[in-house]
Amino acid sequence: MRALRLMAWKSEAELTEAPAPTPGPGQVVIKIGGAGACHSDLHLMHDFTAGSLPWSPPFTLGHENAGWVHELGVGVTGLEVGQPVAVMGAWGCGVCQRCRLGIDAYCEDPDRAPIPSGGGGLGLDGGMADLMLVDNARHLIALPEGLTPAQAAPLTDAGLTPYHAVRRSLPKLMPGSTAVIIGVGGLGHVGVQILKAVTAAQVIAVDTRQEALDLATGCGADQALLADDSTVAAIRDATSGHGADVVIDMVGSDETLALAGQSVRTLGDLTLVGIAGGTLPVSFFSLPYEASVQSTYWGSRPELIEVLDLAARGLIAPKVTTFGLDQAMEAYRRMRAGELLGRAVIVP
Ligand code: NAD
Ligand code: ZN
Repeated sequence: MRALRLMAWKSEAELTEAPAPTPGPGQVVIKIGGAGACHSDLHLMHDFTAGSLPWSPPFTLGHENAGWVHELGVGVTGLEVGQPVAVMGAWGCGVCQRCRLGIDAYCEDPDRAPIPSGGGGLGLDGGMADLMLVDNARHLIALPEGLTPAQAAPLTDAGLTPYHAVRRSLPKLMPGSTAVIIGVGGLGHVGVQILKAVTAAQVIAVDTRQEALDLATGCGADQALLADDSTVAAIRDATSGHGADVVIDMVGSDETLALAGQSVRTLGDLTLVGIAGGTLPVSFFSLPYEASVQSTYWGSRPELIEVLDLAARGLIAPKVTTFGLDQAMEAYRRMRAGELLGRAVIVP
């Protein structure tokens, strides 16, 4: 089969022939119907080096996957060949408290996990291939009626990650509140849709690209602001001078973290999702009083079920551009150049 493999750090992935996987006990092979191209894959190809992460190449990219059950390993019940499924991407040990809660991303027994803090496309072979081996059947969620794998794939990360970030701040997103999303790319545009679907907050989107702001407006943002010297003042203006109750930074550079810190309100949440590697100095007077700063990594299995439900009912709908497997590197090139809107999904 064909597979887009990252062979070494600081290199571009290569489309190669790879052996088709066979499922061991409890495992499932799926036929890929869609694999989302995430900006994290650009970080994998260009930014990380040996020791940055607890695993290393070679592996097949693609951690945002959906498809059809292709072959069941011994002992797997409750799934049928041909059934459409989404893949929960983080794969933990399955027995620690976090995994039992469906939060494999924070598995506390990484030595017993198939890979520490990773999954298919993150240390193990992912979905940018014709077929993908899923380590355990519990990572598969049946697609609700009406969702195709190509539509569902981005929901497993570009949908799940902002959903988790929004969900943990829900008590601060009451009517009269304001949420800011910085970076309206794959994750950010779905983040805007999620905020509009599940909260009554005023939503302000910020990006450096006008076309991304137009997408944000199309996704329901109440205001869309270019990231420049006037952004903080505009956010203050839109919030009676108070600042935003929740700021979610989908970029994570020094610049965007500074903007987030200057835009957040007292008692607000500043949530860091983007992995651009920036830092935010924190001291007693550097942030509004009782502003909470947190990172988030992916989301939980119950949350993915909720995200799939939102999409199945048409309350969120990621903007998807599809590419063949042989065009995957072109999708990444466009993402890196800022020429992509919404999410690129590779359909083999
Ligand atoms: P993307 O490339 O699709 O979108 C990034 C957006 O940010 C683009 O629209 C871009 O124009 C905008 N942007 C860039 N610099 C900006 C700035 N200074 N101010 C405002 N906007 C700016 O990327 P994506 O796939 O949505 O991923 C976003 C980030 O989130 C990446 O760093 C990715 O690695 C990370 N990520 C984190 C998690 C997690 O669990 N924490 C999960 C997935 C992705
Ligand atoms: Zn990702």
